[in-house]
Amino acid sequence: MYKIAIDGPGGAGKSTVAKAVAEKLGITYVDTGALYRTVGLYVKQRGVNPKDAAAVEDLLPDIKIRLAYENGVQNLYLNGQNVSDSIRTQEISMYASLVSAHPAVRAFLLDAQRDIAKTQSIVMDGRDIGTVIFPDAEVKIFLTASAENRAKRRYDELIARGEKVDYEQVLSDIKTRDHNDSTRSVAPLRPAEDAVLLDNTGYTPDQSVAAVLEIIRRKLGDRNE
Ligand code: C5P
Repeated sequence: MYKIAIDGPGGAGKSTVAKAVAEKLGITYVDTGALYRTVGLYVKQRGVNPKDAAAVEDLLPDIKIRLAYENGVQNLYLNGQNVSDSIRTQEISMYASLVSAHPAVRAFLLDAQRDIAKTQSIVMDGRDIGTVIFPDAEVKIFLTASAENRAKRRYDELIARGEKVDYEQVLSDIKTRDHNDSTRSVAPLRPAEDAVLLDNTGYTPDQSVAAVLEIIRRKLGDRNE
């Protein structure tokens, strides 16, 4: 079994790449941002200020998150309800970014992330997979691109989902999230020392996937158990 960690800022194309890699290698894809988004959604539903660490921590015992794989697609259940779509809005991105800075939230989600790799090979995307969750991952990739390029991708994705968004707003949110993610005191966004850096500014999704598969092939060789 092996673990592939793909970290990087929002909009770098981590989920597109990780999904394609999982399919190609026949292993499970785990989207950890979805876990933080689910906590963010619950905090919003309860009307709690996502910056209030104590109030957010008080809510954690009420949250039951279940990750389920249905026809190869990751679905997330929050207290029994499928929230896979409702966690994808621009507003919930910001809630996720704010709640993810609280150490109690990160501790709360730690086991869910580690448990899933105990019985199978995985490709996991997030912010701290190579640094905190799996420092022993066989392959670590840090995927990034310019803020403008990432904002354009997020914008296209949100428009395709039917959300009404403004490009300048998406760009400003990406920059705010970059700042939140990289300056927080626990598990800040940064490449692991042994991560391979890939800047995919200007790449098509196919080019990003090909570049990442090449890195994995170099690291894993012919290993395909
Ligand atoms: O990747 P995605 O945009 O879905 O992540 C939403 C937010 O969750 C990020 O802005 C980040 O603050 C947080 N996150 C995190 N650690 C992870 C994955 C996501 O802090 N492993």
